[in-house]
Amino acid sequence: MSLTDISEQIAKAEADAGRTAGSVKLIAVSKVQPNERVTAVLDQGHRLFGENRVQEASDKWPAFRETYGDIDVHLIGPLQTNKARQAMELFNAIHTVDRPKLAKTIARLSQEMGHCPDLFIQVNTGEEPQKAGIMPAETDAFVQSCRALDLTISGLMCIPPIDEEPALHFALLKKLADRNDLTGLSMGMSSDFKSAIALGATHVRIGSAIFGERKAT
Ligand SMILES: *Cc1c(COP(=O)(O)O)cnc(C)c1O
Repeated sequence: MSLTDISEQIAKAEADAGRTAGSVKLIAVSKVQPNERVTAVLDQGHRLFGENRVQEASDKWPAFRETYGDIDVHLIGPLQTNKARQAMELFNAIHTVDRPKLAKTIARLSQEMGHCPDLFIQVNTGEEPQKAGIMPAETDAFVQSCRALDLTISGLMCIPPIDEEPALHFALLKKLADRNDLTGLSMGMSSDFKSAIALGATHVRIGSAIFGERKAT
């Protein structure tokens, strides 16, 4: 696979679903990948990446931005409140707003800093105890509480359980987004992005299918 293959497959999935060409953004998930694989994708002109750790991203992206100019980098992994400020300085979007304390911290910092990245709420659609995210039944109330804090929410994000049919989770996320007037849907990875696009994804997060397998960490 390569960036070109994946971009073509996304375009085809958009067309098959009757969706506007270009309506799905490809987040190239570069976590743990060696720099030469990342620069190869930058050299092809791609400018939207995903990272799951604040520290790793802050070691990597300032230098790439210096060389390549504007690059959008999205945080797709868990965020500790004590790293929220650093994350808000570094990332263009945070996909993992997953608890009230974090929402409150981001709201306070955005007042103070005068800007805020795009925000997605992570929903634990599989209700898995070990996984982060707001429970589906609590999502409406959480969206409202974020709005009460003056936060603009761009959409919802989910990571389906590995052993279940992802389409069920994508459909649930879409339903939760629709009834809260949210247009962004961050869903779909290397193995299931076509299904996610058919069910309304606006952001797919694809790592290994673009860069190759990650080294175990
Ligand atoms: C690593 C990661 C991805 C990318 O996974 P691939 O299977 O390599 O496409 C997507 N989303 C999240 C939240 C991740 O942590």
